[in-house]
Amino acid sequence: MSNLEESIELRNGIPIPRIGFGTYLIEDEEPVIHAVSTAINAGYRLIDTASIYGNEKGVGSAVEESDIPREEIFLTSKVWNTEQGYENTLGAFKASLKRLKTDYLDLYLIHWPKPVSDETWKALEKLYKAGNVKAIGVSNFMIHHLETLLESCEITPMVDQVELHPQFPQEELRSFCKEHEIVVEAWGPLMQGKIFDKELMKELSMKYNKTIAQITLRWHYQLGHVAIPKSSIPERIKANIDIFDFEISDEDIKRIETLKGDRIGAHPDKIN
Ligand code: NAD
Repeated sequence: MSNLEESIELRNGIPIPRIGFGTYLIEDEEPVIHAVSTAINAGYRLIDTASIYGNEKGVGSAVEESDIPREEIFLTSKVWNTEQGYENTLGAFKASLKRLKTDYLDLYLIHWPKPVSDETWKALEKLYKAGNVKAIGVSNFMIHHLETLLESCEITPMVDQVELHPQFPQEELRSFCKEHEIVVEAWGPLMQGKIFDKELMKELSMKYNKTIAQITLRWHYQLGHVAIPKSSIPERIKANIDIFDFEISDEDIKRIETLKGDRIGAHPDKIN
């Protein structure tokens, strides 16, 4: 089954693919062009970047050069912390579009919650209403950040992209988002590589005859959210999307829950 058929509808009816391709730490130009082209050829239709990744130019080239029409690719970028504020955000969005060589984005996110996110969100609402972006959302927003935003926003965010993996499954946030029809997108879905040391995952990999990455991504899939794994290695890029021909039992899903512990990335209230 191709990844294309595997999507969730956002609140406004726009489909978002269940597995996307992350590009954090993949260098601009050749490396990211190669990785994104490989991903698109393997069937990925969601590409995740951000202005701070410094690779939007290469991502844009790969999308432009691919045989897949632009409207079949779900392209995400994010406004960085120092670009927040109303006018700054509008400018940052325009600059991202230029680097990405496109005239619209599928999803634009506030990268991290900051005190000025109210004004930033107004800019995102304006871009959405003008048709410059098909969906708008946030990233690294905890429940309290969402609650504050929900009090003042005109348009509820459609997506919250957060750190989420077996060690940090974010149950409360997932249930809050479900209630508010906010689709959850998991960053660091493979624990930024740390999942590969877990004995339980090695055991499950043997049991299901799938790689640890496939078990983990299937876990994300069965939980019902979007996941955006990153790799630069063609074989891994291809294998990471090949998760639709097996099912993890409920019992093993529960066993994976025993890995629960701390987040590995920055705490959203401590980022500056
Ligand atoms: P990830 O969990 O996707 O892990 C990536 C690591 O796993 C890499 O080191 C890679 O080499 C390794 N890996 C991938 N597939 C593998 C396989 N099959 N076998 C062995 N190793 C494998 O971590 P990530 O890149 O941080 O997160 C995914 C994406 O999420 C990013 O690329 C980025 O697009 C996004 N992201 C967003 C935020 C945010 O603040 N919104 C933060 C971090 C990442």
